[in-house]
Amino acid sequence: MGKFSNAMWRLLGAQASRNQSQSISLIEKSHDEQSWAKELKDDEFADAAADLEIDTVDGRAKFLALIREAGERAVSMTPFDVQLQGALRMLDGDVVEMATGEGKTLAGAIAAIGYALGGKHVHVVSVNDYLAGRDAEWMRPLYDVFGVTVGAISEHSTRDERREAYACDVTYASVNEIGFDVLRDQLALHEDELVAPEPEVVLVDEADSVLVDEALVPLILAGSTEADTPNTAIHEVVSHLKSKHYEVDTDGRNVSLTEEGARFVEDTLGGIDIYGDEHVGTTLVHVNVALYAYYLLERDVHYIVRDGGVHLINASRGRVARLQRWPDGVQAAVEYKEGLKPTASGEVIDTITVQALMGRYPTVAGMTGTAIAAGEQFRQFYGLGVSQIPSNMPNVREDEPDRVYDNKANKMEAVVDYVKEVHETGQPVLIGTHDVAQSEELAYFLERAGIASVVLNAKNDREEAAIIAEAGRKDAVTVSTQMAGRGTDIRLGGSDGDDEARDEVVELGGLCVVGTGRYDTERLDNQLRGRAGRQGDPGRSVFFSSLEDPLVTKNQTHLRELHPDDSDGLMGPRGVEIVQQAQRIAEGAMLQLHANTWNFNAQVNEQRNSIVRRRMAILKTDKAFTDLKELEAERYEELSETVSDEVLGDVARQIVLFHLDRAWADHLAYVADVQASIHLRALGQQSPLEEFHKLIFAEFTKLVDEAMAGARETFTTAAITADGLDLDDADMHRSTMTWTYLVHENHFASAGAQAVQGIVGIFR
Ligand code: ADP
Repeated sequence: MGKFSNAMWRLLGAQASRNQSQSISLIEKSHDEQSWAKELKDDEFADAAADLEIDTVDGRAKFLALIREAGERAVSMTPFDVQLQGALRMLDGDVVEMATGEGKTLAGAIAAIGYALGGKHVHVVSVNDYLAGRDAEWMRPLYDVFGVTVGAISEHSTRDERREAYACDVTYASVNEIGFDVLRDQLALHEDELVAPEPEVVLVDEADSVLVDEALVPLILAGSTEADTPNTAIHEVVSHLKSKHYEVDTDGRNVSLTEEGARFVEDTLGGIDIYGDEHVGTTLVHVNVALYAYYLLERDVHYIVRDGGVHLINASRGRVARLQRWPDGVQAAVEYKEGLKPTASGEVIDTITVQALMGRYPTVAGMTGTAIAAGEQFRQFYGLGVSQIPSNMPNVREDEPDRVYDNKANKMEAVVDYVKEVHETGQPVLIGTHDVAQSEELAYFLERAGIASVVLNAKNDREEAAIIAEAGRKDAVTVSTQMAGRGTDIRLGGSDGDDEARDEVVELGGLCVVGTGRYDTERLDNQLRGRAGRQGDPGRSVFFSSLEDPLVTKNQTHLRELHPDDSDGLMGPRGVEIVQQAQRIAEGAMLQLHANTWNFNAQVNEQRNSIVRRRMAILKTDKAFTDLKELEAERYEELSETVSDEVLGDVARQIVLFHLDRAWADHLAYVADVQASIHLRALGQQSPLEEFHKLIFAEFTKLVDEAMAGARETFTTAAITADGLDLDDADMHRSTMTWTYLVHENHFASAGAQAVQGIVGIFR
């Protein structure tokens, strides 16, 4: 992975500060225009803005003056200079770092208006539907002043509502909704069914979460087929394994049979050789899937069982993800393990990663509280620059040194003691956990210690936002996973902004943030810390870790040689070092994994682009008709005696699209198969990446010809009348039901492992 040399970074640093000083002088210049802006009547802003040449220095200075005035009038906020700085950098296509509470919502709206005045359609990507709706409504009066139209999309938006929202100059939506619209357009049989617009500008809120942490998450469009029936015999034997029969890798991503386990399975299944040729691709895969479901996936950590179904918990957000399921085999295996009825499974119709989705936009910019630390990834994967925007008020939050304990029990006890002590003073405490199970466990311990807490658990975003907004009240103790309720401001004294209540909490030292373990990257730690100390508020933060934390056990060895300093199990400075080192190792591994997976995905993305282009051409032109007419001239002559060209044109389009879509779905299934077995090949000394590319390339070169051959066959043999095509006769059945979901998976977690690799590492 090519890191920049120090000299290169210095050069970039110099460039960045030049950019910043440009912004600052623009902002100074804009003050000279303020009296002009003040004179304008409300209904004169839109025309004044439309007359600006937004890409010139003069135009921008005037724009800033207008915005300052309009902000005050429309949303009662006069943008701070630092917000204008952030907006200017976003207008130049950077990701800006602005701390929590600095007012990114307003800064983002300013940038969006700037782009819109330049004639661009802007998508503002929010972390969830709730925030998309909230931000669009909050900023709407400001947009109105400039005559810029704004819309928002949620999971529940109808197709027409989506189209309407996309037709606006600025559209707020979550990355999922935009991605699913792009995918669903692959089902369109007529141009007027398309929903997703041409991508122009995207402004990404929480840019590091979306563009880096979730970059490789595939969004998937699936269609229904028959329900999967798991192999009962295999499940029976796997469910009866003893601990000596299988091994879980130290990083908890992989599980495999021991030699003894393999023998046990082989004997129970009637003396087969599961590593023999005939079983490697079938029985062994099933066994591995079952092992994964039984011994790696834990109820209430990875999924919950509710209403007779298995619901995944999205590990990074600690919430139940609707419409999300595992790859089919795993889903069926977990359902079997929990004694549930198998649900209908599906075939993947199309898929796109978040990274590829964002890559469609010619202009990408973003904002987040933690951009600098992800600077390398932004540059490497998107070619994006990063700008740090100073905070409006100096940050006075006190970050206490980490406290590291020898084991988990001692850590939890220390957390409870600490919270108890702080809580007794009345200071509000926000505790960040890693997952829902940990939240619940902690709440239980706190209750036992006589402390009532509010737990944010995989409920809905709106409720979580309302709860977290009150986390700054006196006496509040709030337990939350790292991501829950993000995007919501925590005001000291409570969300109603009561001054007296605020002063009281300021007096107590502001919000106290407690981490119950470092995350896989320091960026996430800092996101949690950033909950305290907003806009110059007082506040403090501290992290408790233990040598038994997964971060440490997965990334460090030789832990047994370490001993605590005292009887509470508190470790000395060496313990803190161990934890920090483990985090650096985890960060490095993530980067490597990202690069590897990106390399595997890049080719399939290219292939997808080429299929989408072809499909669009067929949808928007009469290419299918002219092709078939030329290739099957005789058949055309025969049909044209009874069927009009108009009907034949529709029929031809329908037929070619059907075969192209079929071929693409088959190709994706093939890709998945190769992914699942590529590591077996790796064992045979071939480079998995090269081998993968070779196979996928070879298969893809045949795709279009095969689709066209299928289309010709249908065109010549199917019953085609003046009413069109008889779909049953043509055997052209499209999925009766389609749905969308996303998977946190990583096919290529560690090269050279078992076949099960294809489905492991679903959680990061
Ligand atoms: P962030 O997303 O950066 O954490 P928000 O956009 O949620 O911050 O804004 C945080 C708070 O600051 C909001 O309550 C908002 O009303 C307030 N705010 C933002 N900009 C201004 C401003 N220029 N003047 C006054 N209040 C502001």
